[in-house]
Amino acid sequence: MHAAALKFFWGPMDCGKSTMALQMNYNHARQGRRGLVTTRIDRSLGPQVTTRIGLAHEAIEVTDDLDLRALVRGRWADGVRVDYLICDEACFYTVEHVEQMAELVDSYDVDVFAFGLATDFRSRLFPAAQRLFELADEVARIQVEVLCWCGREGLLNARVVDGRVVREGAQVVIGDTVDTAEVRYQVLCRRHYRSGDLGPRD
Ligand SMILES: [Zn+2]
Repeated sequence: MHAAALKFFWGPMDCGKSTMALQMNYNHARQGRRGLVTTRIDRSLGPQVTTRIGLAHEAIEVTDDLDLRALVRGRWADGVRVDYLICDEACFYTVEHVEQMAELVDSYDVDVFAFGLATDFRSRLFPAAQRLFELADEVARIQVEVLCWCGREGLLNARVVDGRVVREGAQVVIGDTVDTAEVRYQVLCRRHYRSGDLGPRD
């Protein structure tokens, strides 16, 4: 008998979370299962999951007032099977969305696989990530290694404005990890996150 589960896969920026989300979707679809992919604030700023290695998949944009349970019920009412949800960028969802994920697992027997960052640019947990750590059946750190410039394992997402690490500001500011962005993010080890050292400039 299938037992649904809530699983949270987390890691820093650029560690391949969205790639893994789409791979997971592919693997389940191949087994004849049917799922929905949701996202919020994807780097493409559109209703799709995109990855740095060029994969893309259409996705449902999660807004504050979207109820994930109602989303699934709506599909079921239309005769569409939903066996699982792939929730990308789950760190940007609300805590209420995470409660809904738990209910989908417990009361609807729908698997929920959530992917996201754990901490923000201040190295504090995102509220939704915190709730996922508290409620998930399984939590896994994504093992694709992202390295700090010094060669240590990347752990934290530094926000960089005008070449400096900033530690105050809104929790969510859209940026990129490319050098030319006005607000950019750089994955650092804890040591260099704490010292604010972005490494040698080339
Ligand atoms: Zn470092």
